[in-house]
Amino acid sequence: MSKQRSLLQSFGAVMVLDEECRHIQAVSNNLTQLLGMAEPAHQPLTLGSVLGKRLSRRLSKELQGQQRLAGPLAFSRGAIRFQLHAYRTESSVIVEIEPLNPLGKRRLLGTVNERLMRLAEATQQEELLDYLVTAVQQLTGHDRVSVCHFDTDWHGLIVAEARGGHLPALLGQRFPASDFPLTLRRAYESHPVRLIEDTDAPSEPLVPKGTGANLRHCFLRAPAPARQRYLRRLGVRGALSMAMQGDAGLWGLLFCHSATPHPVAPPVRDAVRTLVQMATQRLLLLRARQEARYLQRVQDSLVLSANARLEPQSPQEIIHQQAETWCSLFRAHGVALWLKGSVHASGTTPDSPTISQFVKRLEKAHQHSGPWCTRGIAAEPLTSSLCMPEQCGILAVPLPMSPAQRGWLIFFRPEQVETLYWAMQPTSVPQPQPAIMMAPSAAWREEVVGKSEAWQRVERLAAKDLGEDLTLAISAYEISTLNMHLERERKALADANQRLEQLAHFDPLTQVWNRYRIEQAIDAELVAAKRYGATFALLLFDVDRFKQINDTHGHHIGDDVLVSLARLVEESLRGCDHLGRWGGEEFVVLATHSDMEAAVGLAERLRGLVATLQVEGVDQPITISIGVAVWQPGDSCKTLMARADAAMYQAKHSGRNRVEVAEERALNPEEQVPL
Ligand code: GH3
Ligand code: MG
Ligand code: MG
Repeated sequence: MSKQRSLLQSFGAVMVLDEECRHIQAVSNNLTQLLGMAEPAHQPLTLGSVLGKRLSRRLSKELQGQQRLAGPLAFSRGAIRFQLHAYRTESSVIVEIEPLNPLGKRRLLGTVNERLMRLAEATQQEELLDYLVTAVQQLTGHDRVSVCHFDTDWHGLIVAEARGGHLPALLGQRFPASDFPLTLRRAYESHPVRLIEDTDAPSEPLVPKGTGANLRHCFLRAPAPARQRYLRRLGVRGALSMAMQGDAGLWGLLFCHSATPHPVAPPVRDAVRTLVQMATQRLLLLRARQEARYLQRVQDSLVLSANARLEPQSPQEIIHQQAETWCSLFRAHGVALWLKGSVHASGTTPDSPTISQFVKRLEKAHQHSGPWCTRGIAAEPLTSSLCMPEQCGILAVPLPMSPAQRGWLIFFRPEQVETLYWAMQPTSVPQPQPAIMMAPSAAWREEVVGKSEAWQRVERLAAKDLGEDLTLAISAYEISTLNMHLERERKALADANQRLEQLAHFDPLTQVWNRYRIEQAIDAELVAAKRYGATFALLLFDVDRFKQINDTHGHHIGDDVLVSLARLVEESLRGCDHLGRWGGEEFVVLATHSDMEAAVGLAERLRGLVATLQVEGVDQPITISIGVAVWQPGDSCKTLMARADAAMYQAKHSGRNRVEVAEERALNPEEQVPL
């Protein structure tokens, strides 16, 4: 056990008891004097003689099974009131006793309440902290009360200060991290309140010596010699300090300093502690609100623009449209989106190959999903060898596009030369420290170059959010593009199918049904006729002396004749009749629901109609010879066509431009249709 642990400040006294709270094992040297007891000659002190029987019993009862007393116990000796705290260490009970000064507790409570209300109304950090230091100074009466906020490197910046006019101002100045070593910061985490009434006061030892009591957690413990020297050099004799615990560790410290010894009575300490806790909570709340507003603005930047349009935007369009807003939200002067090897950039950024090279290195070095950032490109191993003129800071957010490949949204910041004012120079070489309680000492100025503004925690959070939103927006775009391709391909397929069907069923020259298709129709009609006895007819016709037309006017004109003829016939048919090209200049009409009489009527009508056909460039009349065959039970397509063909041949033979009817086939008895 080091020597300093068994030394105590003299504004209170300490007793070390056994575990059962029966016997006193050691006391601080000043105990009897503090309590106004007559010095016992030689006999050892008893607990009863110090606290009285009742309080001793109460103490042991309240500590039973407890690590510490729930709250202080008060007692009087003569005209003086005291308060007592007790807690257990490994093998003993430590009792700390302090006199209570006569300041009315009720009055104090009133002022504290009023101050708490004021704190709760503050809407800005600066206002809040200013009010805190002023209120604390009024309560404790210290010469200077200041709030020091730690940056990420544990340098402490004085952000609020209340002081007597004769003292030099420290507001805006920094104290180096070496002033706040880890052991000191840890100590504040477990013991948030530290009071040193007088750095120069001789400390009190425990008697008898060597009891081995551990006074590490003792409020009254004397400051470590190094701390004592540090405070003396600053010119501080009385010091009260309190931790301001943030949500991620020590946010800062509240310091009360005096050039002269400065007692702070327990109720005042408690009041200050309440104020500090309240202010810290309020501070965190204000910051959380501010951050929430900022995060919302960043999110809105993408969502609002997405809502404003119907179609998803391409990554280029998004960058193009959002760059300015994002740069202002992230205090950047350039932004780049790296996606599958291509770079979309806006503002002041490095060139695309450099960005790609940077991403390649980042992909290797940065595996997790959070953002990566630096404010010193030239000093950062990952970026120092890349050529990025005009850039000092980078914030890069991975976009979780697919497990195999990520995209990156990258912000760039320029150099921001910053002037820091140090109350004490941050160097390993010990510097003469300014006596902050005396004459003003010039702060040491430091110009920080080669760095951008720092990327705040909330900016990194916002960037991550934005990255996720952007990933969604890009995915939506990719899906819609894929759908568009799919739609285009589906349409192409449908067109091809239609063309195929056209080819399969239609004659390319005349656009009427081809032989295959008209045969299908005849077969279907045969089935219906067989089942329902619905009779139908075929009209086979052939252009008369067509060869001659070809020979006289050319094949070309012959084609025109075929096309005009097909159109004319087709347009004059009923919807339930069909025209097909049988081959060459032969056509078939399938006349449904037609008996012989109707079929002959139709044939005559068609023959007459064709005879009126005029085709440009053809002077001779265009006529056709038609053979008509009506369905008979037992017919197949072949037999029916054969009969029509024979009739047509007959028509040719009889002089052309005629209609001939096929002879009826003799029916077998089983082919007879029952009447
Ligand atoms: P008819 O039928 O009155 O006995 O005399 P025709 O001159 O029409 O006799 P034929 O059937 O022997 O001749 C048909 C001609 O039709 C022969 C062929 O070159 C021609 N032809 C067949 N298909 C086409 C075609 O698609 N376009 C043209 N321009 N001519 C065709
Ligand atoms: Mg022919
Ligand atoms: Mg012919």
